[in-house]
Order: sequence, then structure tokens, then C-alpha cells
Amino acid sequence: MSAMIIVMRPDAEPGDAEAVVERLRAIDCEAHLSEGRFRTVIGAIGDRERIQQIPWEAMPGVEKAVPVLKPFKFVSRDFQEEDTVIDVRGVPLGRPDRFVAIAGPCAVESRDQLFRTAEAVKKAGASILRGDAFKPRTSPYSFQGLGEEGLQLLAEAREEFDMPFVAEVLDPRDVELVESYADVLRVGTRNMANFTLLQEVGRQSKPVQLKRGFTATIEEWLNAAEYIYKEGNHEIVLVERGIRTFETASRNTLDITAVPLVRGLSHLPIVVDPSHAGGKRELVVPLALAGVAAGADAIMVDVHPTPDTALVDGAQALLPSDFAELMAAVAEVAAAVGRSV
Ligand code: PEP
Ligand code: MN
Repeated sequence: MSAMIIVMRPDAEPGDAEAVVERLRAIDCEAHLSEGRFRTVIGAIGDRERIQQIPWEAMPGVEKAVPVLKPFKFVSRDFQEEDTVIDVRGVPLGRPDRFVAIAGPCAVESRDQLFRTAEAVKKAGASILRGDAFKPRTSPYSFQGLGEEGLQLLAEAREEFDMPFVAEVLDPRDVELVESYADVLRVGTRNMANFTLLQEVGRQSKPVQLKRGFTATIEEWLNAAEYIYKEGNHEIVLVERGIRTFETASRNTLDITAVPLVRGLSHLPIVVDPSHAGGKRELVVPLALAGVAAGADAIMVDVHPTPDTALVDGAQALLPSDFAELMAAVAEVAAAVGRSV
């Protein structure tokens, strides 16, 4: 197997790229077309010898043909130079001049809890709501989420507060159900290498948030994104949520280095989740601001009206008033790196 990027000239005729795609298909190669603002790029994957036999650069409209040596192909910057910007019901994720805040409870527990949180985070400046109906718990005896009832409540909150929402999908058998309600599907850290689930969300039409596995390297994470992309879903958002290290003073270690690294390696938007990274309320604000400063496109923050009674992750949840303070600081740091909230 090998991969090649075929870059078309800016002045190529409309039929030139199609001719390249047809030629690729004729030799049983997979071809993905990416139409950028200035030029069209075609990504090809297939048998090395067959791809290399054809003098691509001699075809009309072709500027160059370059082999992709990285293990992940289509999600790499080599394939697409321009940033991917995802429109989540009017909220642009990945636009270099915008910063997006995603916030809400870790788990949906009740209408009252969800609505109080959604109202507060919206007022403080969040534009996407988070809240889960299916929770991946370490213990099988812990609260597992409200299931479809939780999704219904999230859909009601979306209407009430005019906020799209993201929710986790744990099981390939639930993908259709979650997709029928949520605006963005999330694959959690424990499922980053669940390739069946990745393929399933890759066949859907809603954007997918892909959390980094807590023991995954950046390369493994981008390979997981490649699984989704390859199935046809190109709207992928990467979420750095901390990795497991020798350090036990925090829940995980936020790998802030991953933000600029991923920015260079991939065209996909990147989000920082300071809540699951630190696991402690007092760490959320500094980690969130570090994420903004490092160039993340968004933060995703756990907020709960009464963290002491939260069924999941209360120790890391911010009170709505703390979140409002955080947002004021986020706006300042975002402005310093050329983004408006
Ligand atoms: C979450 O965002 O609620 C969650 C379960 O996160 P993670 O998969 O990063 O642990
Ligand atoms: Mn959580």
C-alpha cells in the first residue's frame, strides 16, 4: 500500500481532476478529492507499483505528485494545507480567528440540572452544549447515564437555549440513535482505538469529536482519525484531554505540546478539555487558558450547578459562576492570540 497526493494547478480545467480520479479508479486505487480555495488536491491510496507506474505529472492540469510517507494520509497537512472548518449549526469550529467554548455537565442527570447548566453556560458565552446520555464508567456499578431520555433532554435544551450539542456514543449499536439527536458525536478516550466504532461514526453525516486515548501517541490518535475520514466523514475534531503519565497528583497530564504539534501535522480542528485532564476544579482555569494560548480552536469544560451532588466527575466541575469568570479570562487570552470568542 502506498499513498500519493496529486496537486492540481490553480488554472487546471474542471475536467482535469476528474480525469485523474478516473485513472486512479481504473487501477483500483481509492481517490479522495479535496477542493481547496486555491487548488484541488487528490489523495490516492492503492498498490505502490500501480500508482508509481503512471506519470501523473504529465497529465493535463497536474502540478505535482508527491508520495505521503506518514502513516496517516488524508488527515495530514500534506494532503490538505488549509485548516478544516466545521460548521456546527452555525458555529464555526476551526476558524483561525474564532475561539469556541463548549460547556455543560459531564452527564445529563435531570431536566433541572441540564437546563440550569445550559442557561448559565450560554449566558457566559459558550456556544456548544456538552452533556452525555451514555457514560463510560470505570465501575459497572456507577451511574451509566440516562440513555435515550438524556438525549431527549439535550434536544429540548438545544431548542430552549439555541445551542447545538455534543454527546458521547459508546457502542456501535447506538450510533444511529445518538446521531438522530446530537449535532456532534463524541468518541471518548477509552474508545479511541475501537476501530469498529470509528468506522461506524465515519459512515455518519454528523461531525465527530475524537478524544485522544489516554495512552495513545499523537500518531496513534491521528491514525484513529484516519479511520473515520476513510469511511467518508471528513468532519473530525480532535480533543486533547490529558494522557496517563507517572504523575499521580493530577488525574491526567494535559499534553499541551500536542496542540501545536497536531496543528502542524493535521488540518483538523483541535480542542482542549481541561476538566478531564486535570480532574480537579482548581486546575481547570489555568489549563483552559494554557489551551487557548497554545492555539487550540476550542475548550470543552464540565460545568454543574451543584458539583457536590454530581453523579459523575463532580470534583472537576466548575460552578456556573466560575465558568463565567473563566470566559472573561478566555476572551483576553484569545484576543492575545488573534481570536475572538
Ligand atoms: C467526558 O468527556 O465526559 C469523558 C468521558 O471524557 P474522556 O473520554 O476524555 O474520559
Ligand atoms: Mn466526565
